Amino acid sequence: METKEDIIDYLQSIDMGIGFQDLNEHVISKNACIFCGACISLCPRIGVRDNKPVLLDSDPECSMCFKYCARTYFPEEMFEQDLFNGNIPKDFLIGHYQKIIAAKSTNKEILMVAQNGGVVTTLLIHALNTGLIDGVLLADRDENWVPKPTVVRTPEEIMLVAGSIYTMTPTLLSYSDAINKYKLKKLAFVGMPCQIQAVRKIQLWPPLSEEYGKFSLIIGLYCTSNYSYDLMEKLVQEKLKIEMRDVKKFDISRGQFIVYTKNGQYWQVPIQETKKYNWSSCQYCKDYTAEFADISVGSVGKPEGSWNSVIIRTDIGKKLFDDAVTSKKMIVANNVNLSKIKEEAMKKKSKIKKLDEKVFSAMKFLKISDLEIRTYAILVSLGNADLPMLNRVMKLEKEVIDNTLDSLVKRKWVKSTDGFYKPINPTKVIKDEIYKFKKDIRRNIERIKKEAMVDLETLFEQNNLMYVRYEEYFDQILYKEIL
Ligand SMILES: Cc1cc2nc3c(=O)[nH]c(=O)nc-3n(C[C@H](O)[C@H](O)[C@H](O)COP(=O)(O)OP(=O)(O)OC[C@H]3O[C@@H](n4cnc5c(N)ncnc54)[C@H](O)[C@@H]3O)c2cc1C
Ligand code: SF4
Ligand code: SF4
Repeated sequence: METKEDIIDYLQSIDMGIGFQDLNEHVISKNACIFCGACISLCPRIGVRDNKPVLLDSDPECSMCFKYCARTYFPEEMFEQDLFNGNIPKDFLIGHYQKIIAAKSTNKEILMVAQNGGVVTTLLIHALNTGLIDGVLLADRDENWVPKPTVVRTPEEIMLVAGSIYTMTPTLLSYSDAINKYKLKKLAFVGMPCQIQAVRKIQLWPPLSEEYGKFSLIIGLYCTSNYSYDLMEKLVQEKLKIEMRDVKKFDISRGQFIVYTKNGQYWQVPIQETKKYNWSSCQYCKDYTAEFADISVGSVGKPEGSWNSVIIRTDIGKKLFDDAVTSKKMIVANNVNLSKIKEEAMKKKSKIKKLDEKVFSAMKFLKISDLEIRTYAILVSLGNADLPMLNRVMKLEKEVIDNTLDSLVKRKWVKSTDGFYKPINPTKVIKDEIYKFKKDIRRNIERIKKEAMVDLETLFEQNNLMYVRYEEYFDQILYKEIL
């Protein structure tokens, strides 16, 4: 399956035959799971062990867990059409948006508990009070900062869970309770860019969307990366010797991970030292600003003090935001540093994994140059890129990259559309290359047999008749082994 259309057709037509086994093979065992909780919430046969989904019962292979997983195929173009109607422009680095603005809550109590300017908490309370939503799926935590997915239904409960938790939180685990136990029909979701992919699928993609897509508002948080709970155990407790229940707030600012305690002290650790606790699949993530949210909120690019930078994307997001400002729940300012936001987004989009030397040496057999395989691997890491982006990442002359891309397009390793290059699935391209490689060997064997062996054998027989035996079967064995 090569094109999006193929995959969409495939996923929509085949309801049986794909199950947890496939989810495990393609997502969980590849350390690509972001522990969003969608599969666990959608299927009673899936549970949790060691912060990973596990199969608890026999699998009817109904395809739901695979289709709605945050990390499997995301029908981007289809959702872009649904959400942005083809008239909200798209920026390659930060996605579709109508307006980028700085904002902060006017409520002092919210500002006391919020992470930055309290925009998320303020928008949620305003959405609840005006009837846009009837509940929210949020990330709460216990006294040891162990994350707890929760469903909240009152402004007071929303205030109680304000602030950022730097540990992967399976917020969608509470989705099942929200619709089955509390019978909520207009849900809001706040979460990381990766989680929003699962939420949009549930909201917009049939068949689940028709009965269960009860989301009315999706707020995304900017995200460079998230952590496993090891950050709390090994860094905060063991290294810094801070009791978790004494922590008031965590923050990441100006390259430092900061721990504030309830007695007014704080500790700073360079962000570099926290990287070993990163959630493993964050290394493959390209979305910094939650490109599929209705509104994205962060701190990068905000003015000094308790403010947020806000990216308003959909009409739903714009209406809610404007209404909250008109109702004096928030104040706004225009001094957002957009270049700073784009710089962070660029860093995330251009993160690449280096290939092992073994790959280069194996590829030599297929007559693929190091530059071709490097360019292809970079495209696999980036997912999709244009020439200026590749030029920035590879730091090579544009002409050299352009020629390499031409060659990769001719070899059918890469597809080019509207100036953007997309890699074709490696299983397909390598299989094609092996097929060509086998064909070449077969042709060369025939040539050797026809053009060299016959002449050499004649010469040998003419001069060494006394040694000649029938040894053609050696050749057949050789031929079978190679092919
Ligand atoms: C793991 C993580 C990484 C982040 N990285 C960046 C970054 O690189 N750059 C940047 O500018 N901003 C980042 N942010 C966003 C920033 O920390 C603030 O959340 C954002 O600015 C909103 O501020 P606020 O005052 O409006 O939030 P608040 O009004 O305090 O509301 C925050 C909301 O976020 C929810 N929440 C908290 N933690 C999580 C979580 N782990 N998963 C899902 N939901 C959660 C809470 O339930 C709460 O409702 C990150 C946030 C998190 C959680
Ligand atoms: S990313 Fe989410 S839906 Fe996919 S396997 Fe992990 S928990 Fe399940
Ligand atoms: S870096 Fe990506 S995968 Fe990791 S938490 Fe952030 S959005 Fe999710």
